[in-house]
This record gives sequence, structure tokens and C-alpha cells, in this order.
Amino acid sequence: MTATIAESTRLTGQMLIAGKLVTGTGQEIRGFDPANGTLLDPGYRYGDEANVDAACAAAAEAFGPYRATTSEQRARFLESIAANLETIAAPLIARAVAESGLPEARITGEVGRTTGQLRLFAAILREGSWTGARIDPALPDRKPLPRPDIRQRAIPLGPVAVFGASNFPLAFSVAGGDTASALAAGCPVVVKAHDAHPGTSELVARAITDAVTAEGLHPGTFSLLFGSGPGLGTALVTDPRIKAVGFTGSRSGGLALVAAAAGRPEPIPVYAEMSSVNPVFLLDGALATRGGDLGRAFVGSLTMGSGQFCTNPGLVIAVDGPGLDAFVAAARDALSQSSATPMLTPAIAKSYASGVDALSAEADLVERGADSDNPVACRPALFSTDAPTFAGSEVLQGEVFGSSSIIVRCADVDEMSTVAAGLEGQLTATVHADDTDLDAARALLPTLETKAGRILFNGWPTGVEVGYAMVHGGPFPATSDSRTTSVGGRAIERFLRPVAYQDVPKALLPSAIADGNPDGSWRRIDGELTRD
Ligand code: NAP
Repeated sequence: MTATIAESTRLTGQMLIAGKLVTGTGQEIRGFDPANGTLLDPGYRYGDEANVDAACAAAAEAFGPYRATTSEQRARFLESIAANLETIAAPLIARAVAESGLPEARITGEVGRTTGQLRLFAAILREGSWTGARIDPALPDRKPLPRPDIRQRAIPLGPVAVFGASNFPLAFSVAGGDTASALAAGCPVVVKAHDAHPGTSELVARAITDAVTAEGLHPGTFSLLFGSGPGLGTALVTDPRIKAVGFTGSRSGGLALVAAAAGRPEPIPVYAEMSSVNPVFLLDGALATRGGDLGRAFVGSLTMGSGQFCTNPGLVIAVDGPGLDAFVAAARDALSQSSATPMLTPAIAKSYASGVDALSAEADLVERGADSDNPVACRPALFSTDAPTFAGSEVLQGEVFGSSSIIVRCADVDEMSTVAAGLEGQLTATVHADDTDLDAARALLPTLETKAGRILFNGWPTGVEVGYAMVHGGPFPATSDSRTTSVGGRAIERFLRPVAYQDVPKALLPSAIADGNPDGSWRRIDGELTRD
């Protein structure tokens, strides 16, 4: 058994295209250990347009047989991927820790989140209502015109391109939420690996490929490519066989892919999760009773994972006064004791440092965390400013990826509402409120609904539960399409489209909308939800 795991986790430095290991011919990259600055073996060579063509041709060929699989078959496939990841958990965790500099406990948790996500979609497939089945039975005697028999179900869009994110090497990468939801929907997937974790990407790709083989699926159901974003990534998004894109990363990267997809002869949807500062509103009652506790807890959320979370609390908004002073004093104390921890890549660390420099020029520094000899370390930073200065500055309103945040001191509740109304779209908006704050919170809520995908009370935005009700999305620039989510059960909807079947012979109807409900799923018949 040990020999088998050792063999299955021996890294080759190759791409996986429709089940075959393929060596790239382009630039060589290596994993980088940010904790000690070493480059990791093996090297991975970038692929080229011929590799994109091969992966997309195989995905297009796989689409027919893959979408013809039953929900049960796809559920078993997703569970098989999860089981394979668990089998290689120890070497997978070791490699992901080395390539990300993230603590082992965090990466271990991410394995659980990734397998949990795959199993959530397996459960959704089995439950069946994801097909959106509805039946309007024929009314042949209706006057003045008879009604035809009309049935509706959702079908998959086609092959999906997924861009792995740097900051979640497992849960938002090769077998992450985008891949799991696309595979659940019945879409073959071609992943463009993130350069920050090539070895982790290869291990996960092999776990998926083994599951493809074990479940007897078409090998083109899954491929993994290495290459530059503007080069290979753009070629992938503009390949006519790709029908949708999932992305998590920077605003500029996401917008480049949106533009590439929109410029195709056949434009396609891009679900890009990009940029969010995740405002935290501290209301007066909460500040008065627990300002100090909130300040300490805030720093815990701010510095977790070197602040490399899309939900990192990068903005705090409150009315000036003694409660806010207590919050700031406790936050300053906690931050002064925080250490500098490595960031994922030298490029991200550089971008953090220049972002903090830009904030320093426009806001007052409250405190910095400890410095470090490690050139890729993130030294936490907390700033403060007033509402008019904040409102007038694009720099202060933009995302600085890492442990950096700004406190906006407002003159009164009205000014706090004005700041809220001026915010860009966000993944999250947090409110800390006591019972005495309910009126103020009620007044704020309608504005927050128009700004954020998730509103949370008396907690911190970092930590995204994966479940049926979660929304990890929000208005631009949080995402390129606010109508959906990249985490949670509804993510499957991004890769589906509805088809209506009018007077189609009963013998030809798919099981989801067949008479007698052979799948036993919830369906809307003449407007009523039923399992009959
Ligand atoms: P990134 O630079 O946007 O890269 C993400 C992926 O997109 C990579 O595979 C990248 O390929 C590709 N890409 C980037 N620009 C592209 C372009 N113009 N055309 C086609 N593909 C492109 O993100 P990152 O490397 O993860 O981190 C950089 C910054 O992104 C961070 O400093 C942070 O600001 C932001 N970020 C935000 C979140 C969030 O959730 N909000 C998460 C992670 C990162 P290449 O590597 O070849 O460019």
C-alpha cells in the first residue's frame, strides 16, 4: 500500500492531457517554498497552443458521453476523487505546505474542505432538484387555443476552463469549487494550473485522472495544463470548444479573461471572483460593550494566512468615539505582537508591499506588525482615515491583498451610511451590533444587500462555510457576475442552461422530466413542487 501511494505521488513535472502525461516545451517553472526561499523539484515546462488544442478537442469529445452519465454516476465520480485525495493526503499536504508557506493545520483543513465540497455536489446530484425540472402538462381542451405539453430541465453548457487560484492551493484550485461544480453539472474541465503550486496541482490532477479511469469515463473529461495566463490561458478561454470559465484571482487578470471571452465570435460566460475589501461596520452599542474584544478578534481575522483571503477584512467603518478608541487601542496592541508570515509568492509579497506604501501616502498609520528577514514575509499594517478622505481616494478604496486594513472614522451614523452607499461591490459585509443597535442595523441592511454577496453579523468574514445556502459572490468588482456563487451548492447553476421540450414524444424525454418521475426528484408540475 505504501509503495502504491509513493508511486502515485512521485512528481513527474508533466501536464495531464486526457489521461496522458505530456511534457511541455516552453519556459520552465518550479514550485517555490516561501518559508525558506528555496525552489522545489521537479521543473514544469509550460504547454503551448497544441496542448490547449489537444485538451479542448478531448474535452469536446468527452462532452457527449459525460453529459449522458446519470447523476448517480457523476456523484460516484466526485466521491472517487474525494477518496483519492484522502488516500494521498499526507504527501499532498506536505507538498502544498512547501509550495504555499501556509501552516499544516490550514492545509489539512483545506483537504477536508475540498473533499467536503466534492461530496456536497455528489449529494446535490442524488437529491436531483438541480435539474430544475418543471412540467406544464398539455391542456388540449383549453379555449381559445389548446396548450402544448411543455417540460423544462437544465443541461450542462459544455467544456469549462478553470483557472486555479494561488491562495487556496486545494479548495480553489485543480479540484476546487469551480472544478467540482462544473463536473457535477456534466461539463468536462480543463484546468490552467497556478504557477504558485505546480506539484500540488499535478498530485490533484492525478487523483482526478485516476477517478476518471476507475469510473470508466471518457479520458477527455479532465485535463491539466501549465502555462502563462496571457499566453496559454487566453488561448484556452478563446478556444471555441470552451463554453464557460471559472476564475479566482486579481481584478486585472479576471477582467482580461472577461474581455477575451466577450471578444470571441461566440462570447461565453466568465465567472471571475476578483477583488473585495470586505467592510466591517462597528455599531455604537457593540463598540461600547466590547470594543477591546472586537479589536483583538479583528486582528486575528486580519492576519490569518498572511491576510491572503478574498474575504480578508480590509476596511473597518465606525462612528468616532471612546468605543472606537478602545477598539483601535486593542487592535494596535495585538498587531504590534503579530509576526510577519510568508506570503504565497514573491510577486504577491511585492504587490502587498507597494499596496501598503500607497496606503501610507494617503492614510495615517496606526500600527505595523513585526518585520522579518524573509523577503516574502507580510508585515501586517493598519491605517486610519476620515470619511471624506476615504471617499475621495481610489487608492484607499482598493484591495491590498494581504494583512492590511483601514479604519474609517465617521462623524455620525449618517456619514457611516454615506460611506456604505459609496462602496464598490463586495464578497462580504460584516456588522457588529448589540440589541441597542438594531435600528441602526436595520437602516444599513438595504444598502449592504446591494453591495455584498454575504452579510454577516457579529463574526468575521474569513472562513467561508461550504453548504447549500452559502453565497461567495457579489456585485462587481467582487465578481464579474453577481447572479451566482463560487462556493456552495448553487455554484452548479453557473454551468447549466435551461432547455424546454415542447410536445416531445414521451419515449424521447430525459428521465428528469419523464412521466412517473423515474428519478424520484422534486419537480414543479403546473407550478406546484412535488415528488409525484
Ligand atoms: P492573478 O495574477 O490574477 O493570477 C491568477 C491566474 O490568472 C493565473 O493563472 C494567471 O496566470 C492568470 N492571469 C493573470 N493575468 C492574466 C491575464 N492578463 N490574462 C490571462 N490570464 C491571466 O492572481 P494571483 O497570482 O493569484 O495573485 C495576484 C494578485 O491577485 C494578488 O496580489 C491579489 O491582489 C489578487 N488575488 C485576489 C484574490 C481574491 O480572492 N480576491 C485571490 C488571489 C489573488 P499567470 O500566473 O501566468 O499570470
